[in-house]
Amino acid sequence: MLKQMLLSILLSLGLVPAYAKEPTSFESFLNAFVPEVSSKSKQLNQAYWILATTGSADAADLVGTLSTELSMLFNNPKTYKLLLKWEKQGSVTDPILKRQLQLLIYSFKEKAIPENLLKEIAQKEAALSYAHGNFRANLQGKTVSENDILEVLKKETNPSVRKEAWEASKEVGQFLAPQILELVKLRNKAAKSLGYENYFQMQLDLQEVNEKALFDLLDQVASRSDESYQNTLITIEEVQCKQFSVPGEELGPWAWSEPFGQEDPLDRAELDSLVAHTDLVEATRQFYQKMGFQIEPILQKSDLWEKPGKNQHAFCINVDRDTDIRTLENLKPTLKWLETILHEFGHAIYEQGFDEKLPWLLKQPPHMITTEAMALMAGRRAYLISSLSKLPSYTSSQDTLIKKAQESLSRRQLIFSRWVLVMTYFERELYRNPDQDLNTLWWSLVSKYQKIRTPKNRDSKCDWAAKYHIGLAPVYYYSYLLGELFASCMEESLQEVTGSNSLETTEAGRFLREKLFSPGNRMNWSQLIEHVIGKPLSSDAWIREFATKQSSLPEMGK
Ligand SMILES: [Zn+2]
Repeated sequence: MLKQMLLSILLSLGLVPAYAKEPTSFESFLNAFVPEVSSKSKQLNQAYWILATTGSADAADLVGTLSTELSMLFNNPKTYKLLLKWEKQGSVTDPILKRQLQLLIYSFKEKAIPENLLKEIAQKEAALSYAHGNFRANLQGKTVSENDILEVLKKETNPSVRKEAWEASKEVGQFLAPQILELVKLRNKAAKSLGYENYFQMQLDLQEVNEKALFDLLDQVASRSDESYQNTLITIEEVQCKQFSVPGEELGPWAWSEPFGQEDPLDRAELDSLVAHTDLVEATRQFYQKMGFQIEPILQKSDLWEKPGKNQHAFCINVDRDTDIRTLENLKPTLKWLETILHEFGHAIYEQGFDEKLPWLLKQPPHMITTEAMALMAGRRAYLISSLSKLPSYTSSQDTLIKKAQESLSRRQLIFSRWVLVMTYFERELYRNPDQDLNTLWWSLVSKYQKIRTPKNRDSKCDWAAKYHIGLAPVYYYSYLLGELFASCMEESLQEVTGSNSLETTEAGRFLREKLFSPGNRMNWSQLIEHVIGKPLSSDAWIREFATKQSSLPEMGK
């Protein structure tokens, strides 16, 4: 009684959030809770935007504070129990309410670990992020940044200089590995406290991913694309042997254009001449206009050009899950940037397309997979004749180059898929047993999937820990490959619906808006995929698109 009185006094003073008073129904809980969450999330997004466009230290502080505050709104064992009670009672029957209940249960469950453990993990993650951001490797007696190393790997032809640069790129792994392992164990402890075997399993479960189905699909991709990848690799290695004047058996990861072998090393600057005289913003505007999407309001709010302090990585953000959608790019006249701006606006039109009547909690994609698929499908257009031939700067003399661009797209798909396999199989094992010999595991996966030779003397170098996502964006990487698979499925569906392989038609736009965007998070990602393509996700379409026509790769690299 006294507690109730005290609570109502605090409530009237605005010192306790409204939902802290035990709500009588799920709907009354939503009415109090959602305004709190949506307003905090908007503030966080606004602060994040300032940070990304200016690099301001104050904004970084604010982002830290607001994200902790947002996350603490879900750290409430009492509310979690209440949500579980409503679920068990089965009193919430309306599908829209039921879905919101389900999503809130996931969010509260993730935070339902002991508060001190939650804080310890947050502190260790912040420390790791800081250490990662501030680490600088040493190359030939000089301190170098990641970009300096990348420059060497892109341009240098002397193998011994390249090897040194590659080794320098891995120093960060050895430096960070102890911190990462500590974090992995803490994450596992948190997952165990919630009844999971390990953190990897927990994350998949909370993301509504069935682990067995995921790995069955990955196994399929690996075996069905193996021959094509092997053929691609032959082409690549022939070029590398010539370029660096070494026999094939001496090639290694140092011969690739970036440290992990995740990008096409034959990607050549000559392809950029395809867009040398193209206004990328105008091309993007027209591309989406032809699909029936008005992107002008998003362009107005976006930050498109390079400037000091600005984030290097492009992204799209929906600030208020309403009309305030923005993208960030650092545009330059390259094919990569045409791909990137088309990609980010793919995310943006998805966010723009949620059914207006959906409640705030459901105005989001059900998983990164579905929004990535849209963005990837749009980005691929930067390499395809169907779109390149529509650019105002197009002339038929570019056709040979466009053919090379298309071939580069297939190579990129094969190369990147192999890299995702390495990452995902490694992560599963890492969380299963962090005390095993992770160096051997890492290189056995690299040699199995990427077929890149293991260099000598890497036994204690912790090369796995050099990849940012292992420590700081865990259980995430697989989504990129599933997004690619779904993108290929959608391309086939669109071809059936519109009778054309061009994405730039109002029919294609309408199909995507109605089938993919409008449902938001009403259903889980695998149901949504079936809703869009009429069958479950599989690797069939992707294999047909990228892993069956390997004889068309001559000429490259000459
Ligand atoms: Zn994306």
